[in-house]
Amino acid sequence: AIKIGVLALQGNVSEHIHAFEAAIARSGIFKNYEVFPLKKADDIPSCSAIAIPGGESTTISRLIDKNHMREEFENFSGGIFATCAGMVMCAGAVDDERVKPLSLIDIEVGRNAFGRQKDSFEAEIEIKGYKEPYRAIFIRAPVVISAGSGVEVLSEIDQGIVAVKSGKHMALSFHPELTGDFRLHIDFIKNLGITEE
Ligand code: GLN
Repeated sequence: AIKIGVLALQGNVSEHIHAFEAAIARSGIFKNYEVFPLKKADDIPSCSAIAIPGGESTTISRLIDKNHMREEFENFSGGIFATCAGMVMCAGAVDDERVKPLSLIDIEVGRNAFGRQKDSFEAEIEIKGYKEPYRAIFIRAPVVISAGSGVEVLSEIDQGIVAVKSGKHMALSFHPELTGDFRLHIDFIKNLGITEE
């Protein structure tokens, strides 16, 4: 079976599991698949993709090291679907030294970039290649401050870049697991380039 792990150290894990299951079922892209809560470093290499959910990136950073997962992530050859705190974790650089990012995507990320007034908000955003806008939920969201030349910007709003793609990886400032719009999940899965036997 094709395995998709949702990093289950902290944060909204079950929403991500449900969203991936729904996205795969709806698109019919795989027949034989498993979406599971990823808790052990040993399970990382067998995944075709891993979602790193939102939560608190300072905590997730600490727990990745506590669970000896850093090296497995650095050597991971599948795709990462990184949302919110997950985006912070995948960056090459973060504006908070308490976070030790995994350097999987060549971006510099600022935490809590929207300030107190806009702690949480929803916005209809434009995403590259999509005809219809995407309703994005931002919760104490980060923003991409700068992106390397190999990184494709999928969405930029007034405050900065909020969605990027880099190789098999996708990183989003907002929470695609909460809205029932699975376009980004489906594009991410298709971009893994996996065909079932
Ligand atoms: N502000 C959090 C952080 O930077 C992210 C918030 C979230 O994931 N919803 O860790």
